[in-house]
Amino acid sequence: MAKQWKAHCLLLPHPLQGHVNPMLQFSKRLVYHKVKATFVIPHSFWKSISTESSSKSSVAFETISDGYDEGGRKAAESTEAYIERFQKVGSQTLSELLDKLSKNGSCDCVIYDTFLPVDCVIYDTFLPWVLDVAKKFGLIGAAFMTQSCTVNSIYFHLHQGTLKLPIKESKILLPRLPELEPSDLPSFLYLHYGMYSFFWDYLVEHFSNIGKADWVLSNTIYELEHEVVDWMREMWPLRTIGPTLPSIFLDERIRDDDDYDMSTFKPKNDICMEWLHDKPKASVIYVSFGSLVSLSEEQMQELACGLIDTDTYFLWVVRESEEPKLPKNIPEISSEKGLIVTWCPQVRVLSHEAVGCFVTHCGWNSTLEALSLGVPMIGVPNWSDQSTNLKTIVDVWKVGLRVSMDEKGILRQEVLKHCVKEVMESEKGKEMKENAIKWKNLIRNSVNEGGSSDQNIAEFVAKISQH
Ligand code: UDP
Repeated sequence: MAKQWKAHCLLLPHPLQGHVNPMLQFSKRLVYHKVKATFVIPHSFWKSISTESSSKSSVAFETISDGYDEGGRKAAESTEAYIERFQKVGSQTLSELLDKLSKNGSCDCVIYDTFLPVDCVIYDTFLPWVLDVAKKFGLIGAAFMTQSCTVNSIYFHLHQGTLKLPIKESKILLPRLPELEPSDLPSFLYLHYGMYSFFWDYLVEHFSNIGKADWVLSNTIYELEHEVVDWMREMWPLRTIGPTLPSIFLDERIRDDDDYDMSTFKPKNDICMEWLHDKPKASVIYVSFGSLVSLSEEQMQELACGLIDTDTYFLWVVRESEEPKLPKNIPEISSEKGLIVTWCPQVRVLSHEAVGCFVTHCGWNSTLEALSLGVPMIGVPNWSDQSTNLKTIVDVWKVGLRVSMDEKGILRQEVLKHCVKEVMESEKGKEMKENAIKWKNLIRNSVNEGGSSDQNIAEFVAKISQH
């Protein structure tokens, strides 16, 4: 059926699960606001996902090439090679796509579904080259940040030279941020300094052309990081539009938006939800380290022993690639109190009243999901922005605990058991839960009609509709 649209946006995520989820969700918000959204991903990523759910989507899909059509990132000799080739081949194939879409669109005066010229390109800041392509076509360019504003401001300071490496100070003072210790910084700057110099350059490079973007959209909530957001807004047309959880878990305004819809992993939906069904309120620890983190065998064994030895139930996501590191007898010894799955519907799990605590790697999406659903966290950061997210979880929002690792960087079972007890049973745990509920309500208000994120999205839509 023909539908009247106010504008047409192309959205290009970085092809990783934690980047695709927020951008696809934002696409659905745009459609809700009567903006046609075309989601553009590499052929290789498209082939790796289950498309059943995306077929019911209100969002349109197109593919471009990342230069590795037959295997994507895994086929590249290194991440560096992948990023470089994606930029080269992606710029060209995105230009071809924009050419195709502008030819189709140019003959139409009434705005109908199929023939609609593109007005705006929204691109993940991990793909800064997209802005150059958009500008070549005279389009509005909107950068989309998938990390917190706190983290982005730290990388921006590096770009500007107002933060210098190697870090020598024991306390780091940056405008509108809490006082940071070196270990609170993104891992490439301290913990892994010198180990991933490519990542460091790459993340700082995001800011090379951001000044040319017409909009900077951030998957965060104003109320969560208002000081640093205000600071960034002095430089860029930044708008907070998060969190991008499925609408059913927030404002319930977008019909059928109950899932992330595009996954490279197959979630065990029924198994998880049925298992949770008969568990008492707040009796389960949910454990997941996201889509990328790979733990050592020793760490997996410690976690397994720690979880089996707690007084609580546990639901643990162990991706297929991590499974060989589990103790061999884990199915028998954990069957009474634990469920281990290769992937789960995380947001649905976190929203279940049986879940009382989330042992997390503190990826930004997982952090926002736990905050939005009022679940206290135990943070086990591994790399990248996770230690900075943990800093805010513990010291700013006060909704979680930081585990201490031993000299080998391993979380020992005794420490895990102690933390679980503290979150699930102590006075401090009760306070964390109360804080978590406070943030949950604030976040809900920000997404509801008239809230900060809702207003920002409405403003963005109104402006691009005038293009
Ligand atoms: N996720 C999921 N099922 C799982 C584990 C994770 O759906 O079993 C989702 C989770 O809800 C989040 C994303 O995968 O949206 C992970 O993103 P995050 O930024 O937390 O971590 P990353 O995977 O990027 O390290």
